[in-house]
Amino acid sequence: MQTYNSLITKQKSFFRTDTTKDLAYRLEALQKLRIAIKNNEKKLMSALKGDLNKSEFDSYSTEIGIVLEELRFTIKHLRSWVKPKRVKTPITHIGSRSFIFSEPYGVTLIIAPWNYPFQLAIAPLIGAIAAGNCAVIKPSELTPKTSEVLGKLISDLFPEEYISVVQGGIETSQALLNEKFDYIFFTGSVPVGKVIMEAAAKNLTPVTLELGGKSPCIVHEDANIKLAAKRIAWGKFTNAGQTCIAPDYLYLHKKIKEQFLSEFKKATIELYGEKPLNNVHFTRIVSDKHFQRLCSFLDNGELFMGGDSNQENLMIEPTVVTDITWDDQIMQDEIFGPILPVLEYDVLSEVLEGIHRHPKPLSLYLFTENNNVQQEVVNSVSFGGGCINDTVYHFVSPYLPFGGVGNSGIGAYHGKGNFDTFSHQKSVLKQTTLFDIPFRYPNMKNGLNKIKLFLK
Ligand code: NAD
Repeated sequence: MQTYNSLITKQKSFFRTDTTKDLAYRLEALQKLRIAIKNNEKKLMSALKGDLNKSEFDSYSTEIGIVLEELRFTIKHLRSWVKPKRVKTPITHIGSRSFIFSEPYGVTLIIAPWNYPFQLAIAPLIGAIAAGNCAVIKPSELTPKTSEVLGKLISDLFPEEYISVVQGGIETSQALLNEKFDYIFFTGSVPVGKVIMEAAAKNLTPVTLELGGKSPCIVHEDANIKLAAKRIAWGKFTNAGQTCIAPDYLYLHKKIKEQFLSEFKKATIELYGEKPLNNVHFTRIVSDKHFQRLCSFLDNGELFMGGDSNQENLMIEPTVVTDITWDDQIMQDEIFGPILPVLEYDVLSEVLEGIHRHPKPLSLYLFTENNNVQQEVVNSVSFGGGCINDTVYHFVSPYLPFGGVGNSGIGAYHGKGNFDTFSHQKSVLKQTTLFDIPFRYPNMKNGLNKIKLFLK
């Protein structure tokens, strides 16, 4: 097996020069990255088209634009984020001052998946650079065209001792995991997340795990049905459902089921046309293996809409299956495709019970006008993040840290959260030498009584 020891050693030596900690160096790197992404927009779009049949609109709005916005926000705020934060000092520490320094971890590893192959590799890189780290990126092997453009873009911009892209599949990933990194940022599936954490544990390397799972979408009886239908259709079928935070399944209130489904069908046709398989802008399924896996769900429950597929170009129509229960095959794992199963409910407690019996989801979406219902769901269910009366949109706010909880992940990023993820918070006390309070010393007269005045 190839080793990456010499690359990591080079990065560690470079990190030790403290060059990457310099604010001007970080800002210049972020600026250079921003300009290069803009200059490579066309190449990226054509690679994404080749790998996943992503349209230019989708490529820009879900990959390139998101990353440019993350860069813009980071460049704007970095100067204030890097400043040591002065914090209060308790009376017991009189004479001293307290600070928190955000320091980079060192050499970081970023492992990315295929579904947003550019965005999910570059967004964490922005955090790594902003915080002053070196980085090795391992993009997905399932989107070779995009991974190649990404590799070239990075190697043209940065020396490998600072930022390097290593291409390859599982073996490459495992060879990298044999090295001792200072931080590992992984985006991918739950089973591989466990492999990553196990490898990291050997070196006590801290990790962020951005994983997946089944994200519920609840439509309550009092929801704005038309808008809910449109926002859910968009969130589910963008990227052909291959989005970690896509609504995985619907919980529909029985009273509005028929009305909702009919609006949902209309909304989907408006977005993708009567014949989505002929729509040149509809994203395809990434591989034959995933295509076969998804097709095996098409006979679950009752087919309400869609159901057609084209094996030659790996496309599956936006599909809805109803009369689904938790025992159906489609409900056993994250779907990650354009098939939406529908569960029904009478009372909210059935929904809460159903969700609670399964791992904590990455996202949760709730459509209702009722504040009490909103409060009850947010209070009762643990989930990574989500929206009320929308889907997916929370992902693109730099003010909302994005991440999972429990099985859906550990840690969060985006905006300041991205900088914080790649920084260790180093607490430092600056003590005075002008005087020395004697309470702490064991030889002080009545020491115990005096210390009890302060530590109570
Ligand atoms: P994956 O876990 O199969 O692969 C992700 C990365 O890990 C790839 O670079 C791959 O080469 C590497 N890898 C695969 N198997 C490995 C192993 N045994 N040891 C070491 N490395 C290995 O995930 P994927 O199929 O590329 O992506 C889909 C998954 O990612 C879905 O579960 C989805 O929910 C999740 N995801 C999560 C987020 C998020 O932000 N939380 C975003 C996108 C995707």
